[in-house]
Amino acid sequence: HCPVGALRERDDTQRMFQAIANPKKITVIQIAPAVRAAWGEALGLPREKATVKRLVAALRKIGFDYVFDTTFSADLTIMEEGHEFLERLAGRNDHPWPMFTSCCPGWVRFIKSQYPDMTENLSTAKSPQQMFGAVAKTYYAQLLGANPADIFSVSIMPCVAKKSEAELPTMNDAEAAQDVDLVLTTREIVRMIRAEKIDVKSLEEEEFDSPLGVGTGAGVIFGATGGVMEAALRSAYYLVTKKNPEADAFRDVRGMDGWKEATFDIAGIPVRVAVVSGLANTRRLMEHVRSGKSSYDFVEVMACPGGCVGGGGQPIWDGEELASTRADVLYGLDKVDNLRFSHENPSVLKAYESFFGKPLGHKCHELLHTDHHAWEMPQHS
Ligand code: SF4
Repeated sequence: HCPVGALRERDDTQRMFQAIANPKKITVIQIAPAVRAAWGEALGLPREKATVKRLVAALRKIGFDYVFDTTFSADLTIMEEGHEFLERLAGRNDHPWPMFTSCCPGWVRFIKSQYPDMTENLSTAKSPQQMFGAVAKTYYAQLLGANPADIFSVSIMPCVAKKSEAELPTMNDAEAAQDVDLVLTTREIVRMIRAEKIDVKSLEEEEFDSPLGVGTGAGVIFGATGGVMEAALRSAYYLVTKKNPEADAFRDVRGMDGWKEATFDIAGIPVRVAVVSGLANTRRLMEHVRSGKSSYDFVEVMACPGGCVGGGGQPIWDGEELASTRADVLYGLDKVDNLRFSHENPSVLKAYESFFGKPLGHKCHELLHTDHHAWEMPQHS
């Protein structure tokens, strides 16, 4: 059994075409960070042409109504998870340590099945995919003046495990509307582009829709191993000191090593972090943590080696490992972004101001957090 679900991929492209053809449905699609580094590979586009803005144009041609960026909700995740981390630090003795990231469903399934006693250590923040879906059906429905039931929320993910994450009974709002109705992998969206005979080379770049199309460089690097940790530290530093660190201050957690560790000083507090990718490395780290050989405050785990850039839903090239090349694309985008801190994302700030209230507030708990104990691993897993 493959914990990231890559061996039993289901094709959802026909269901997607049906939803687009249904005039009653408003299709709202989000593009995950790692997808932008890989979608053009299978369409023969050179990397400099395979921009996310060209993918936006292709999605509009297919007929999606609103095209948004998961980097928006990656920034929202950082706001929630960053505050959660600082809250746990403040009440240090009331929580199990380390705190683990929770955005990779392959990892969440792994800990629940292999180390169930440590499920408590997971952040309660939903993943960016799920936060985005919750935002689309509540705040965005309100902005559109639309009935949430008419919104068909779709994601393009580098990941097959995201399909089962979207179907978890806990990933919905109070009205039981599913946050994300359908998940397409990068390979599936490539198939749809081909089926529609869209000549991507000739497309002009187009902008994302507003306001959920605004993301920062910190959100973009979520797609590479170490990116979530780096984005979280950039904002945690600000939340504690009220000053931005140098944007690259936490670059020590970058790179393709399967297990990285570092200690950073945040306002006199030493914060010990680790970043692992790949489940063999994860198991080694878990054994070290359990036996007390290693001790950390915050750990990022990604099930796929190299993180989502190397995810099971990305184009596959026999014998070629492209995670590192794709990660370079994401770090390059972060470097030139005008916004490199999640806490400076104007659309995220606006969403708090006009809808969610403050981070970790009541509405946030209801819509943006989850209870990892509230579902059981299926018996066959
Ligand atoms: Fe999916 Fe990314 Fe986790 Fe791989 S690392 S299972 S692509 S979320």
